[in-house]
Amino acid sequence: MKAILKEKAGPGFIMKDIAKPEKLGPRDVLIKVRRASICGTDIHIYRWDEWSQSRIKPPLIVGHEMAGEVVAVGEAVTRVKIGDLVSAETHIPCEHCIQCQTGRMHVCKNLEILGVDRNGVFAEYTVVPETVLWKFSPEIPLDFASVMEPFGNAIHTSLVTDLTGKKVLITGAGPIGLMAIQVARASGASLVITSEVNEDRLKMAEENGADYVINPMKQNLIETVYSITEDGVDILLEMSGNRKALIDGLECVTMGGEVSLLGIFGGSIDINLDSLVIMKGITMYGITGRRMFDTWKVADELLKSKKVDLSKVVTHVIPFEKWESGFELMLNKKCGKVVLNFDE
Ligand code: NAD
Ligand code: ZN
Repeated sequence: MKAILKEKAGPGFIMKDIAKPEKLGPRDVLIKVRRASICGTDIHIYRWDEWSQSRIKPPLIVGHEMAGEVVAVGEAVTRVKIGDLVSAETHIPCEHCIQCQTGRMHVCKNLEILGVDRNGVFAEYTVVPETVLWKFSPEIPLDFASVMEPFGNAIHTSLVTDLTGKKVLITGAGPIGLMAIQVARASGASLVITSEVNEDRLKMAEENGADYVINPMKQNLIETVYSITEDGVDILLEMSGNRKALIDGLECVTMGGEVSLLGIFGGSIDINLDSLVIMKGITMYGITGRRMFDTWKVADELLKSKKVDLSKVVTHVIPFEKWESGFELMLNKKCGKVVLNFDE
């Protein structure tokens, strides 16, 4: 089978013909991958940045977002059967630690990540444990089922609180920020403001339904948000991982408001907690992954009902064999979500 590998330490990937996985553990599932999508994490591994160097052990099949079909199951598998269409939670929990036992599998102590700690999904076939599979509704197009995992990030971040009638600021309109715009709208937010420094993505934010888009390089974010809202926003969804976006975003939140943090800052950052958080009486949430499987259920319902339409987030669907052009798009941020199609 064809697979995209990090073959050895250093930048780049290679596509290679390798043996199809044959051996299945009792709870393993063999999946024929139909779609897979490129995530920022894949780009980190492609570039071979500091984090990848410390975490990735080549050779490794990369990729973790996918939609595929079950083609074989281990002897103890009960959750799926041959022919089922599935997407996968990419954080594989141990099911034994105290978090796993108390409904918090997404913060499992012994988490293994698909395409990071074990072989991933940029291959014609992949093996994953049944624990992480989500049978998505057949009404959901494969191109959208492939991005249910990052869509779950958008949902998990946005729905830590009730957004009905709330004014929302989203900092960062990467693929997840774009999805969050739609989640906020579908959840009854009264106003969705989005900030983004990349002009192409600002345009995408508008196309995905943001009421106002702001480029903080050209306009003062805080002044603009207060001129629109008078009193500031009720909730900040931080989806850029940029320090200035967080600090200015916190300034934009009304007294007693909420902040949900998804963006990864890649190191410690300096903020004045006294004035920006404590004295404002702000509630902050740190978001990692998706709740298993509450978030997936919401993702499924929003896509099935078409309350969220990802056609303006998935900007490119390209044949698996042309994967290199997909990575180029992602490296240049000339895209929303890029999906690799294995059926072509
Ligand atoms: P992305 O990098 O494509 O999007 C981030 C966007 O923020 C970019 O479009 C960038 O131009 C924009 N940006 C940068 N500086 C900005 C600023 N000052 N103001 C406004 N926008 C700014 O990433 P993504 O895939 O959409 O993911 C969003 C964030 O969430 C990333 O930081 C990613 O690492 C993180 N993430 C976290 C989890 C988790 O479990 N916590 C999971 C997935 C992704
Ligand atoms: Zn665990």
